[in-house]
Amino acid sequence: MSKQGEGKIDRLRKNIRQHDILYYVKDSPTISDREYDLLMRELQDLEGKFPEFICKESPTQRVGGKVSEKFNTVRHSTPMLSLDNTYSVDELKEFHARVLKGLGNFPSKDIEYFVELKFDGLAVALTYEKGVFVQGATRGNGKEGEDITANLRTIKSIPLTIPMDKEKINFLEVRGEVFMPRESFRELNKIREEDNEVSFANPRNAAAGSLRLLDPAITASRRLDIFVYGLSAEPVPIKTHSETQNMLQRLGFKLNMNHYICGCFENVLPYVEKWRTEKNNLEYDVDGLVIKVNSLSFQKKLGATTKFPRWAVAYKYEAEKAETKVENIVCQVGRTGAITPVALLTPVFISGSTVSRATLHNEDEIKRKDIRVGDRVVIEKSGEIIPKVVKVILSTKVKRGALFKMPAQCPECRGVLFRPEKEAILRCVNYGCPAQLKERLLHFASRNAMDIDHLA
Ligand SMILES: [Zn+2]
Repeated sequence: MSKQGEGKIDRLRKNIRQHDILYYVKDSPTISDREYDLLMRELQDLEGKFPEFICKESPTQRVGGKVSEKFNTVRHSTPMLSLDNTYSVDELKEFHARVLKGLGNFPSKDIEYFVELKFDGLAVALTYEKGVFVQGATRGNGKEGEDITANLRTIKSIPLTIPMDKEKINFLEVRGEVFMPRESFRELNKIREEDNEVSFANPRNAAAGSLRLLDPAITASRRLDIFVYGLSAEPVPIKTHSETQNMLQRLGFKLNMNHYICGCFENVLPYVEKWRTEKNNLEYDVDGLVIKVNSLSFQKKLGATTKFPRWAVAYKYEAEKAETKVENIVCQVGRTGAITPVALLTPVFISGSTVSRATLHNEDEIKRKDIRVGDRVVIEKSGEIIPKVVKVILSTKVKRGALFKMPAQCPECRGVLFRPEKEAILRCVNYGCPAQLKERLLHFASRNAMDIDHLA
């Protein structure tokens, strides 16, 4: 019976693993969530009956549940270098010139480049031994990172096992970028605001915070994702970076398919322009492109400085800025009575959407930047970051409005406002304040709706 059980457990795990790849990596599931849950439950039941067959790489064991006290230090098998950044086409051309020079008397100027998106997340290294995910680490200082294996295991697009035997490999260190999809970020912040917790400034911070939690169960709830893009070293004879990508794909890793092989440097430039605006339509934050020499022997020949590889460069897009006018500054009352000043702007199109409001955070922030009604201002927005007023455009020709002053009374209930010592936030302390009641009711309703969803 136990032999039969083992065989069945094995088949179920393989089956679930295949569906994980279809769902989380290829985004094309072939069974319903319900059917998937049934497979998972069957496996859990069998593992309950035969606990001797439970192993770490079983799909039931993604969330270890153990809360750790700190992260151990991990030494990377080869340093995780960061990339040199460029912000202009001229700097890109200089990079190409350095590559040509570095390759000595390379007969042709046509170097093949591999162009891929640069994700705004956290670089990690995933180590696999004999087909099993054994360790995951942050980049840290490049030489040493933190062991965040338990947290990385909860990301469903990271395979716990890979068919390494088919590629005749025993050891593999895969590198990739963990990120939080924009939708997950918006939902997480909504819940945090409702719970009166500080919201994350952007998806990158949210991903970083989630990866460094000591309780993997909370990380599991954060819906992180990964794009894998390379290896620490090629374990088998591979000639190009694009071949490496193909191998990673065969092994079941999640790769981003927005990448291009450019036969020469000139072909790289149109992609720089293409993604400057198209990045705004993605489901995740991209802050630039990575341009790599495709040939691995050329990469080897070019080598690295102490900080950066000489065969790759990042082209970074700067946050989009726009000029507009502050039509008015209003104060909003939150569920807990917090008063937040908001700038109402002449609508302006920036970074993929029309912006007509920008948070001014609090009184101190307005004072520091001296933002007044009627001012021309520069606002900035990139990715999911909430638009902010960068600065006021001062002009001697136009007479400015009065200094902005926070109201003395609650704009909704005329109640007394109170600013606790050492806090930047002004609060309405009237519990019966209609604005707060309304927010509390909305909060309650949305929470209830969520529970109903959860039950269904
Ligand atoms: Zn009030």
